[in-house]
Amino acid sequence: MSSPGQLIEGFSRFRRRHYARDGALFHELVERGQMPEILVVACCDARVDPALVLDCAPGDLFVIRNVANLVPPAENQGHYHGTSAALEFGVRKLNVGHIIVLGHAHCGGIHALLEGDTHKEAAFIAEWMGIAAAAREQVNREFPDAGSVARQRACEQQAILVSLANLMTFPWIRERVEQATLALHGWYFDIERGELLGYNAATRRFEML
Ligand SMILES: [Zn+2]
Repeated sequence: MSSPGQLIEGFSRFRRRHYARDGALFHELVERGQMPEILVVACCDARVDPALVLDCAPGDLFVIRNVANLVPPAENQGHYHGTSAALEFGVRKLNVGHIIVLGHAHCGGIHALLEGDTHKEAAFIAEWMGIAAAAREQVNREFPDAGSVARQRACEQQAILVSLANLMTFPWIRERVEQATLALHGWYFDIERGELLGYNAATRRFEML
């Protein structure tokens, strides 16, 4: 897919698949509204579309995508909070039962964070990636002599944990987690090996799912 024309052809195939053969699905989704059980926070990266990677149907996932799949801490300073607004809708209006922070290997945002990319073309990215500064500091502390590949992977995974911690700063998320009506998950898609890992709080490691 490299041109808008190919996307329009793709829409024709989508339409045949979901409206001609399986029209009932969209009819139902329109009638009862969206009722996804799972909210995913994923990266903008073109290689990690959660609906594709996790083989989902329309209506399955409520998806938030941003640079490096980060969740900012809860704050109310009158700024524009796209990710927080989407979290609010997914949790408080749609009542999702699970939030998955889906990180991935070879993340450009995490690379910029580690390399301290301060180019003026990346001013928004640099500020946004500040959310994960604690992940970078931890990697620098724990793996001062590791190679760049290992440091990148460690930082990608540590940033997922920062986002999970930030999710708990939203009172309506914390409340639901404490009442066990909402579960938080940290997943990591290794695009190179084709593997999906999940954070295990007991072992404090990302393990194969
Ligand atoms: Zn990424």
